[in-house]
Amino acid sequence: MSIDRLQMAIQKSGRLSDQSRGLLKSAGIKIQANKGQLTARATNFPLDLMLVRDDDIPTFVADGVCELGIVGENVLGEYALGRPEAGIEILARLGFGRCSLKIAAPQEEEFDLSNLEGSRIATSYPLLTKKWLADQGISAEIVTMRGAVELAPRLGIASYICDLVSTGQTLEANGLKPVQTVLESEAVLVRTGREIVPDHAAALDQLKTRIDGVIQTSESKYIVLNAPESALDDIGRILPGADAPTVIPLAGRQGHFAVQAVCQESVFWETLEELKGAGARDILVMPIEKMML
Ligand code: ATP
Ligand code: ZN
Repeated sequence: MSIDRLQMAIQKSGRLSDQSRGLLKSAGIKIQANKGQLTARATNFPLDLMLVRDDDIPTFVADGVCELGIVGENVLGEYALGRPEAGIEILARLGFGRCSLKIAAPQEEEFDLSNLEGSRIATSYPLLTKKWLADQGISAEIVTMRGAVELAPRLGIASYICDLVSTGQTLEANGLKPVQTVLESEAVLVRTGREIVPDHAAALDQLKTRIDGVIQTSESKYIVLNAPESALDDIGRILPGADAPTVIPLAGRQGHFAVQAVCQESVFWETLEELKGAGARDILVMPIEKMML
């Protein structure tokens, strides 16, 4: 670790680590291979990584040990409720590590929100759960568990659980079903609320611009199509998230044009079918490698 380089905390190994590294790679940052170490160094950018447990990332960022971090909103949210003065700021939502924090009930139960009143709920997210219950006007007892929360109902520790769900398979395997959503979560890029020294701030801005570009390009597509003049207005309306497409006359085909546009939202097959329906032909959808807005 070196004080003249920006410090970023990412998960060492787990569900967020590959994509956190992948994001940095897409932002053009080369990370020196490391085996089992707590830190890693970027070779072409003034950045050091701290490789830690995801639960420790908010602490590192709050205390300013790391100016940046990549962490799930679930972990960040739980931390922030316990330390609201920490002032960690979300810089970008990263579109991976998606999961939801959900209340789950036994599969056979005919669930109603009022069932939660006076019940015991097991969770690893006591503060998020408590806040959600308060927002619903429900009072219930919270049993905090570090892991294996889904076993609690079977063990008779609690009637309900509040746990992370992505596919719901784990719940099902334990005879549970999701009944309420407490939080929708994804990985976020966060920065410390502490002051950042000017040298690091410049590197931070540069990194943020690149990461924004990576996020933009991952969703954006470049679309090229041909269309008669009469279809141009309709096509302009259908193209998702494109402002001002380029329209060029086709040589030798009176009244026909080539349309080119950067679409900043996902382009689905349905979109292509709609474009075709409006009169577009020869539609090409291409990935965009880099973008700086
Ligand atoms: P660590 O050893 O770093 O503490 P962990 O076991 O707590 O790891 P992981 O299971 O790797 O954590 O999950 C890290 C993050 O990935 C979660 O906090 C959450 O934001 C996200 N995530 C995405 N999908 C899921 C899921 N199905 N279950 C749990 N977490 C998920
Ligand atoms: Zn963890």
